[in-house]
Amino acid sequence: MSRVAMGGDKGLPHHKLEEALREQREGCAVCHLVNRTGRRYLESLLYEDVNDPGVQARFRGSLGFCSRHAYLMLDVGDGLGTSILYRAATRELLEYLSQIPDAPKPLASLRALLGGASEAETAFPEPGSGCMVCRSEKSAEDTYLRALLDGAEDWSLEGLLDGPGAICVRHLSRASRVGGSRLPEALVEVTREALKELEADLDLYVRHSDHQHKDEPWGKERNAWKRIVAKMVGPRRP
Ligand SMILES: [Zn+2]
Ligand SMILES: [Zn+2]
Repeated sequence: MSRVAMGGDKGLPHHKLEEALREQREGCAVCHLVNRTGRRYLESLLYEDVNDPGVQARFRGSLGFCSRHAYLMLDVGDGLGTSILYRAATRELLEYLSQIPDAPKPLASLRALLGGASEAETAFPEPGSGCMVCRSEKSAEDTYLRALLDGAEDWSLEGLLDGPGAICVRHLSRASRVGGSRLPEALVEVTREALKELEADLDLYVRHSDHQHKDEPWGKERNAWKRIVAKMVGPRRP
């Protein structure tokens, strides 16, 4: 992790995380930072690097981006950059298609006989496997999760963990993987509190469907079914 000092000894990822935990109104700070990294990576790739031979080779190798990032690319709306990159991927794909044998290779059919057919390789890569934007997001995610674990452990993020940018359950689970299946108590506690409140609201929501309670006034439980989804998996990803 980069330890660039900036206004203290905590490093840039810590400061960005601190800011997102404090100010991010649409939920999970890590989701927000990771999505932003992916979008910026994609934009700079389109505006600056579409003619770079290394970038073209990687784009060809993965036959473009995964579905999510391919459509994000369309949203960016750079027709020329997209055409240049996908022309390279299309040529690569045509190469693959011209080389696909119409009968199984002897070795492949032998493997099928021995029971390995379910592990059969594809004739050519699935578009987007090894997506470059996914890789840039993954690397940012690891960095921010590490900063989150450090900040929760040394209490430097105290008071922010249950703020507007409190992390989603998906990222809590991923943080436990980065932390070697352990999690700082402060992080578990704020998530438990948030989930207990959501559980009570979901319970109230369901209660309204009961004939006996159907005339009770609605409160903040009205949108609990949407809030629990955002808590579990973070805000809708672009
Ligand atoms: Zn998240
Ligand atoms: Zn992707």
